[in-house]
Amino acid sequence: MIRLENVTVATVDAAGTEYADGHVVVGDDGRIAAVGPGPATGFDHAERIDGKGGLVTPGLVNTHHHLYQWATRGLALDETLFGWLTTLYPIWGRLDAEIVGAAAGAGLGWLALSGCTTSMDHHYVFPRDGGDVLGAEIEAARRIGLRFHPTRGSMDLSRKDGGLPPDHVVEDTDEALAATEAAIDKWHDPSPDAMLQIAVAPCSPFSVTTRLMEEAAVLARRKGVRLHTHLAETDDEEAFCLERFGCTPIEYAERVGWLGEDVWLAHGVHFDDAAIATLGATGTGVAHCPSSNARLGAGMARVRELVDHGVPVGLGVDGAASQEVSHLGAELRQALYTARLRGGPTAMTAREALRLGTIGGARCLGRQDDIGSLEVGKLADLVMWRLDGLGHEGIDDRVAALVFGPPAPVELALVGGEPVVNRGELVNADEETLTREARQAHRRLLNAER
Ligand SMILES: [Zn+2]
Repeated sequence: MIRLENVTVATVDAAGTEYADGHVVVGDDGRIAAVGPGPATGFDHAERIDGKGGLVTPGLVNTHHHLYQWATRGLALDETLFGWLTTLYPIWGRLDAEIVGAAAGAGLGWLALSGCTTSMDHHYVFPRDGGDVLGAEIEAARRIGLRFHPTRGSMDLSRKDGGLPPDHVVEDTDEALAATEAAIDKWHDPSPDAMLQIAVAPCSPFSVTTRLMEEAAVLARRKGVRLHTHLAETDDEEAFCLERFGCTPIEYAERVGWLGEDVWLAHGVHFDDAAIATLGATGTGVAHCPSSNARLGAGMARVRELVDHGVPVGLGVDGAASQEVSHLGAELRQALYTARLRGGPTAMTAREALRLGTIGGARCLGRQDDIGSLEVGKLADLVMWRLDGLGHEGIDDRVAALVFGPPAPVELALVGGEPVVNRGELVNADEETLTREARQAHRRLLNAER
């Protein structure tokens, strides 16, 4: 049992309750036993951690990522999405389980150090002789200690059939569906304490057939798991949908059965008013990835309007090759800046940005009953940020310091009450080892010594 005391607490509960000087008590069951003002009472036997100079928030939830891309960072730096993808697809076609495991270890370790306690991953490249790449990233998540929501992605529409990816990186439709069902059967844990949940995630309208989209939705609902895909990321995608399907991306999603409370969509940059109303009415979530959208020059999502229509909106760093920062704590500020660039200085507050990064993300993943806010009975997934150093000195509002200031060091991160970061360092893995393994994976994939 742990009690954090003498610390500022932002619970991100429905009322936005905060304690300038408060406490959080973590029970032996890995859930929050108490949260409130001043010191904890009645928990004298619990190990006390003095949080002087810190801020405790719910752990951040990453709602969109491609961990394997850690092995291909820094390439196609000045391309649009389609140009970037066509440069990288042939390299990704050489992925194997060892490379994906090393990339995922690096990406998840870095996420933990950025304040993330739950991450999804969208893996959609399964080379025929690449081994168990999904198993490799699941092993990496266990190694770091994060709560993990990998999705079994897929692509079955290659260039010869009018899609964007080359023929050798796509799968057969029925094989992809069978492998997705096998992944759910093998790994998905539906329990409230789950450390691992699987979702179904065909990649995008320009790399997946209509049959795979439709049958994936049927499969996910039959198995009781969630659905994820890229949608409305760029103008190029909209032009593709209009030409191939005769409709916009959101109309296509509706046509193939991809709207509902069990669906969250990556990006959602190019939604018009009608599309936003549809998302709100159906409870379909959006993973907002402002740094990736900026890196690829894709545009700025209409987050203010999405939130005002009741759409569940979470934050995502997106793949490490389409925004090399990949730091979820930094994404809080990028989301705030992006909303303000579109809508002026009142378009988003620091607390709204924190809400997107925590409970908003939990709603996207369907975990809002167990994570995303600090409330008695919820899982003890939390972060204590250090805000008393040079970078944050003098910003008295600690939530503002976290969001407006430079990325804050993570003093302590707990997942289900278990430490994954302590005093700014990973608890279960060694940062130097992760770095070395990622460097070797990158070199082997690029097949060049540096
Ligand atoms: Zn993506």
